[in-house]
Amino acid sequence: MIEVRGLTKRYGDVLAVDDLSFVVEPGKVTGFLGPNGAGKSTTMRMVLGLDRPTAGRALVNGRAFATLGEPLREVGALLDPGAVHPGRTGRSHLRVAARANGIPERRVAEVIEQVGLGGAARRRIKGYSLGMRQRLGIAAALLADPRVLLFDEPMNGLDLDGIRWIRGLLRELADQQRTVLVSSHLLSEMQQTADRLIVIGRGRLIADTTTEDILRGL
Ligand code: ADP
Ligand code: ADP
Repeated sequence: MIEVRGLTKRYGDVLAVDDLSFVVEPGKVTGFLGPNGAGKSTTMRMVLGLDRPTAGRALVNGRAFATLGEPLREVGALLDPGAVHPGRTGRSHLRVAARANGIPERRVAEVIEQVGLGGAARRRIKGYSLGMRQRLGIAAALLADPRVLLFDEPMNGLDLDGIRWIRGLLRELADQQRTVLVSSHLLSEMQQTADRLIVIGRGRLIADTTTEDILRGL
């Protein structure tokens, strides 16, 4: 579960996140929808303890990220698919991440299989398409088998097959009773993906309801 209470982030004159409150429950895919610059990434970064709130708080399974005993086992995230060493292979990238975090080596092969990277895992990341980079980022998020998952714009730049694949994966993770929050700036991406939508604009909550209701016009 993710709980955000009065979460606020100010960068100088920009109020990136403005008194945001919502709860993300396990067992469903929750979409986090809003135009570019709405504050989705900033919110996710605060949930992950990568950014300090100006006010309010963000809790993962009832605790602030900094106080989680084994944070990676509780929450995994796809934030920036570019944050990898391009000269490494996908598999070595995952191996390094596993080793650094005390995750058993066998998980590397499991997540490579789970995200369908296949033989590409043995090739250097610099030759990867955007879709393969997204798969690798998702594999890294899944390494520690976390109960809570945050995906920031995972469908960006993917073709229809890639989008269908991500939809299936999100559904599978939710069916395993995990908490799944996935951001997008496109309602069209979310309408066949999310059970529920949290909609924000200019850092503020606009709607928090089922995807069906949003499509019906509330
Ligand atoms: P989204 O993910 O919805 O596209 P962001 O959370 O990235 O939105 O950005 C929200 C607002 O905060 C934007 O106006 C963005 O320019 C600003 N912002 C985000 N990060 C920073 C930062 N590190 N410094 C200054 N402004 C930032
Ligand atoms: P995203 O669209 O995924 O939020 P961005 O390209 O907007 O990614 O941001 C990349 C990095 O730059 C992030 O660390 C973000 O916090 C920071 N950033 C975003 N907007 C601004 C801004 N206006 N000023 C300074 N840093 C920013």
